[in-house]
Amino acid sequence: MDLEFDVHDHRHQLKQLRDTGETAVFENRDELTCPACSKPFARLMIVTGRAITFPPTDGNPFCLLRREDDVVIFRH
Ligand SMILES: [Zn+2]
Repeated sequence: MDLEFDVHDHRHQLKQLRDTGETAVFENRDELTCPACSKPFARLMIVTGRAITFPPTDGNPFCLLRREDDVVIFRH
């Protein structure tokens, strides 16, 4: 399993929705798959801040990829 995920490798398949400086949110415009569970995801969030509160979700699972300088959350 490839546990790397670089947004720059997939920039044409992702649409950036938000970037607050601490979190950046991208929409999956293609069928990119999550490196944790290998299933397509709906959105990904790159978190560089130390703490984050999630808005309520509609019950979809999410996966988390811990990297050296940030955490990537894949919402399905
Ligand atoms: Zn996943």
